[in-house]
Amino acid sequence: MSDSARLEAEILLARAIDMPRSFLFAHPDDELDEDSIARLNDTVNRRLAGEPMAYIQGVKEFWSMELMVSPATLVPRPETELLVDLAIRTVPRRAEWNILDLGTGSGAIALAVARECPSCFVTAIDSDADALAIAAQNVRHHGFGNVECLLGDWTEPVAAREFELILSNPPYVADNDAALDDLRAEPRHALAAGHDGLDAIRRLIVDCRTVIADDGTLILEHGFDQRDAIAELLQDAGWRDIQCVDDYAGHPRVTTARFTKT
Ligand code: GLN
Repeated sequence: MSDSARLEAEILLARAIDMPRSFLFAHPDDELDEDSIARLNDTVNRRLAGEPMAYIQGVKEFWSMELMVSPATLVPRPETELLVDLAIRTVPRRAEWNILDLGTGSGAIALAVARECPSCFVTAIDSDADALAIAAQNVRHHGFGNVECLLGDWTEPVAAREFELILSNPPYVADNDAALDDLRAEPRHALAAGHDGLDAIRRLIVDCRTVIADDGTLILEHGFDQRDAIAELLQDAGWRDIQCVDDYAGHPRVTTARFTKT
């Protein structure tokens, strides 16, 4: 049983009767009507089948914002807040940078950075139209005027533009990693990236050289065991100042690098 089983059960029960969770404690002896029981059974069965709570609830908190999510998007992970933290520390105060978020999914990174850096403009790209629709809904819902959402394959929609800062939490799990079994409710193309999990990152490291501004910074999230391989790929592609930062669990998780254009 997961540690949070009781909490999750309470959330699903409160949802079935369309009441806040506090209602359960104030009315512990109330009985459920048949419709509520049916709704509760439905969501409990989805949860037992491995569907994340975030998909059942339709929302997930990230960077203290409630974001809409769906099975078209990855559920935003707490470790990705490290990437956001590094990104906002890279941006000088009041800088009017163009910032790119590749593979935005629900728009979590783009929205968090847009909120912390209101004088910057964030371009969020995803190749999946359903995911991009969720990102666009989140942008509208939170009222951000400094985020645009573009459909396309990595840097392809912005091939003629330049960005001072490029961010990505790309797929980085190896195709044969058993962890994918536990993540089967989430979109596989947002998680898996070839035999070593580096297919997307290999492509980004090369393609981003075209759309990075001179002296611009690239910040990539990656697997705990990919630090050295990524440093080598970046170095081979001419990136400099390559640095890896551990996540809050102590795993190498985010690598930053800069690029000088000739
Ligand atoms: N951190 C995620 C996980 O393994 C993977 C996310 C990704 O591939 N971008 O749960």
